[in-house]
Amino acid sequence: MNSLKYKFDARTKTFLMLWLGFGFNLMAETEWSQIDWREVELRVFKLQKRIYRASQSGDVAKVHKLQRLLLRSWCAKLLAVRRISQDNQGKNTTGIDGVKSLSPKQRLSLAESLTLTGKGESLRRVWIPKPGRKEKRGLGIPVMEDRARQALLKLALEPEWEAKFEPNSYGFRPGRSCHDAEQAIFNAIRYKPKWVLDADISKCFDRINHDVLLQKLNTIPTIARQIRAWLKSGVLDRGDWMPTNEGTPQGGVISPLLANIALHGLEDYIKQWAETWKGGKQANRISISLIRYADDFVVLHKDKSIIQQAKTLIEQWLHGSGLEISESKTRICHTLYDSEEKKAGFDFLGWNIRQYEIGKNHSGKNTHGKLLGFKTIIKPSDKSVKTHYEKIVSVLDSMKGKSQEVIIDKLNPIIVGWCNYHKTVCSKETFSHIDNLVWNKLRRWIKSRHPNKTLKWCTERYFHLTKEKNLDGEDRDTKWVFSTPSNIPNSPVAGTHELRKHAWTPIERHIKIEGSRSPYDGDWWYWSKRRGEYPGVSKRVATLMKRQKGKCTRCGLYFKDEDVVEVDHIVPKAEGGKDHYKNLQLLHRHCHHQKTAEDRQRQMDNKGQKKAQNKTKKGRKSETGQGSAVNKRVVWRGAV
Ligand SMILES: [Zn+2]
Repeated sequence: MNSLKYKFDARTKTFLMLWLGFGFNLMAETEWSQIDWREVELRVFKLQKRIYRASQSGDVAKVHKLQRLLLRSWCAKLLAVRRISQDNQGKNTTGIDGVKSLSPKQRLSLAESLTLTGKGESLRRVWIPKPGRKEKRGLGIPVMEDRARQALLKLALEPEWEAKFEPNSYGFRPGRSCHDAEQAIFNAIRYKPKWVLDADISKCFDRINHDVLLQKLNTIPTIARQIRAWLKSGVLDRGDWMPTNEGTPQGGVISPLLANIALHGLEDYIKQWAETWKGGKQANRISISLIRYADDFVVLHKDKSIIQQAKTLIEQWLHGSGLEISESKTRICHTLYDSEEKKAGFDFLGWNIRQYEIGKNHSGKNTHGKLLGFKTIIKPSDKSVKTHYEKIVSVLDSMKGKSQEVIIDKLNPIIVGWCNYHKTVCSKETFSHIDNLVWNKLRRWIKSRHPNKTLKWCTERYFHLTKEKNLDGEDRDTKWVFSTPSNIPNSPVAGTHELRKHAWTPIERHIKIEGSRSPYDGDWWYWSKRRGEYPGVSKRVATLMKRQKGKCTRCGLYFKDEDVVEVDHIVPKAEGGKDHYKNLQLLHRHCHHQKTAEDRQRQMDNKGQKKAQNKTKKGRKSETGQGSAVNKRVVWRGAV
């Protein structure tokens, strides 16, 4: 498919719209779903790889030429629109224009008109409660069109900067996660306790000097104009890219990338400073590390004076672009010893990182076999545990009258998500601790529901033995679990719904990303194999991912970092498909949509045939009509 054909199709469609009116609606729907997405993605990705390579070799003119090409490409425009309308997590958030979601017809016409205008609409501001606190944070939601424009620009800018970015910047970059940052810190301190500067940059986009950022971008006038307009209108709000364990940030699509660009060079600046010290250049470079996740960073070195000097230097560096370190969130401490009333260790991305003195029998050894005398332990931070538990409590409190099934269905995803984020660190004790808290909370919750019943009655009503196997096929211990009863009368064994325990999550080490790798380097073998063991991805998804070697079974393309991946039943549940691994596959969300539509069509056809048969056989009307309506609902639920 070439771009000419698309443009031609688009024009024909507009023409037909005038004549057909209502009929056009149906046509547009088939149009959008008939786009060959595999081809579209491949084309854009090829172009992005070329940008990456040109940027790596420092050929600025070529980078700009290719970026212009990409911004004009019909495929890139389609992809940008799909990203904000179908793939993005915040796709259902309303912008200032009041548009919540786009019909396939609107998607196509948005893609047709998508260009960088050099203007930025103002924002609709929504207030989102901060986890664990009373205050709320403002979140600017740009209009649909602006979001699509940002997605398009990101497609062009990201490969250029991925080729330049520093190895120890981990936030909001393709193929990198919080867990890579955590491993980087672990590697930096595992053989030597160090001093830490734990700092946070305050209000990045409120303060940043626009001219400095644009100068740093050093980009073509079209892009520069557009970004300047966005900066002015406040589209690039800071509040929307807080690190979360719930996936992509909402709102502004491009702001995390721009923030990374603004803070690019900090690591290198510190490393260059280290080279000026006494002693070997290389050894000095290695001895200090700066690990950054978006606007949150740590500096590690064994001498306190070096860390204090580093702080002053970083403040100067940031001052150059109008930024500053947030004093209230900054602290200097030691990883092993308490110092000046400051406890050892620090919190980073929801974890507590700290070293403990330990006897020779349990002590780790360094690479020369010498005893270290301490151990590095990373575990979920107290704040993270508290926020998580409060979330569970608030669900239980807000759903006092609801049935047990509904509550279990609501709580399980929260528990699974939190456990997946923390399963790469030493979380075993924390997991059991939370299970105890939840157990006690449940007891109180049940008691308040049935104040006149005995404790025995309550326990028998809500807790059942479970012997279910876990996903690896290993037996779990038989335990009492908050669950619905099974169908067998008087059976103590759990039925269909059971509340997951945190402790069921196996602890798995995360393997850190290699050096300055990027998905744009084209090494898909590395990347697909890597995706098979990705934290933040559920065990089921990870297993399927490994089995499929990182490819979507429908379109045959590799999953990329930004793709939303969904588990699909090969034989739909509505047609008797089972929940077994054999019947499961991973698909892109958009591929899943297509498949579900086909399944539904087939089921409707089958139903239609049966209906026709029934009519000829028995001549009954009303019953079959009712039957098909019921079935439609079941199928729809299957699609969600
Ligand atoms: Zn696919």
